[in-house]
Amino acid sequence: MEKLYFIPGSQDLYGEECLKQVAEDCRQMVDFLNEKLEGVIRVELLPTVETSEICVKDMRIVANDDDCVGVITWMHTFSPAKMWIKGLQELRKPLLHLHTQANEKLPYAEIDMDFMNLNQAAHGDREYGFILAKLNIPHEVVAGFYKHDHVIAKIRQFAQVAKAIGLSKKTRVATFGNNMRDVAVTDGNRLECEIKYGWEVKYWGIGEIACLAGDVTEEEVEAKMAEYLDKYTMATDNVESVREQAKYEVALEKFIAKNKVTAFTDNFQDLHGLKQLPGIAAQNLMAKGIGFGPEGDYKISALSSVLMKMAEGREGATGFIEDYTYDMTPGQELELASHMLEVPASFAANRPEIQVHHLGIGNKEDPARLVFDGITGDGIQVTLIDLGDHFRIVCADIELVKQPKPMPKLPVARIMYRHKPNFAIGTAAWCYAGGAHHSVVSTALTRSDIAMFARLTGTELITIGDDTTEADLQKFFTR
Ligand code: MN
Repeated sequence: MEKLYFIPGSQDLYGEECLKQVAEDCRQMVDFLNEKLEGVIRVELLPTVETSEICVKDMRIVANDDDCVGVITWMHTFSPAKMWIKGLQELRKPLLHLHTQANEKLPYAEIDMDFMNLNQAAHGDREYGFILAKLNIPHEVVAGFYKHDHVIAKIRQFAQVAKAIGLSKKTRVATFGNNMRDVAVTDGNRLECEIKYGWEVKYWGIGEIACLAGDVTEEEVEAKMAEYLDKYTMATDNVESVREQAKYEVALEKFIAKNKVTAFTDNFQDLHGLKQLPGIAAQNLMAKGIGFGPEGDYKISALSSVLMKMAEGREGATGFIEDYTYDMTPGQELELASHMLEVPASFAANRPEIQVHHLGIGNKEDPARLVFDGITGDGIQVTLIDLGDHFRIVCADIELVKQPKPMPKLPVARIMYRHKPNFAIGTAAWCYAGGAHHSVVSTALTRSDIAMFARLTGTELITIGDDTTEADLQKFFTR
């Protein structure tokens, strides 16, 4: 289980008794947080920062602990912030500045100078906030009494985002083949991805998977087919095609385990040695939390892996989706999002069917794929683009809806959604922002999760939703 360290701030000006009380209050606070955050994260208390040396020592414990994904800091008393400078300069993990108090209410009848000196977050946390701003350290501020539900909810959210950032730093994308020839938005600077987000984007030839697939045993295929039949309904006579996909998935699983891969891409233009484009193989892996981007889209592959981690333990689905086509009926506009095969099985509203159909592109044999209608509910659509000198995240609120009519001739899985605040503003804003046609859709995450991720990773963020107006559109390209 991942952990957060809790580092309180104080100073030695108020005497030993005061410091003892600070430590005791922090122990109680950490106990309370551990009770409330059970199953999400563990919180561990580090020595109170009274000097620059203690701060540096604490931050080195943070840096050297692989289980630690972030830090919570809080100034119980005043804590002169110069003593935080050197420690904070060593901090490389997400930081939450908890602006709270040990006491909820002011004890008006009893308050004296000792109480006021002991409990001065309003004083100490502002001094500390200044040094974070001065050092330009990305951080999240959560304000309120620590036992209040909204404060706990924010800390829980921070823990989930910090865990996702922890995974981000360990993300390794295997790209089988390059990105699709001539496509712009899937391209970019892989080196910058590793520098900024920790994503190792590593190239392998698809021949690696073809060779592994060739060595898959009959027993392994049978086991994979049993897994498919347990989850999905066979709706094809062409079982051979499904068995071929089973081989690909077994091969991919072996490759993923051996090379410590968390995400991968393939490309229908580069399938040498494979009879089919991986369909159900990719769909089933995505449903298990493996990141995926088609056509060599390493950014979306990595992002989907990171966002699936962020959504861990929450209701709903998260995964790669591609924008396809619209229903432009006035006032009832909808988008049909899908892909030629690879829609994550986690989005299925009904039990998916395994079907085999011809695929017009790629010049390969008919691939087996899962066909289903998507889940409904509030969600977000998130993408990440590389603008050369910086990355930009675009996040739009959407409402996933039931398809208004059956689409019996469309042989792929699909989801449908409504844009916010409406079709005209929502889609125009996405286009102005340069949002890709590949994205991660989630019904588990919210815009606020993505905003926290963007802030903590120092990424430019453009959000679109019910608060987006015509006036916002006019601001694009009018700088
Ligand atoms: Mn595409």
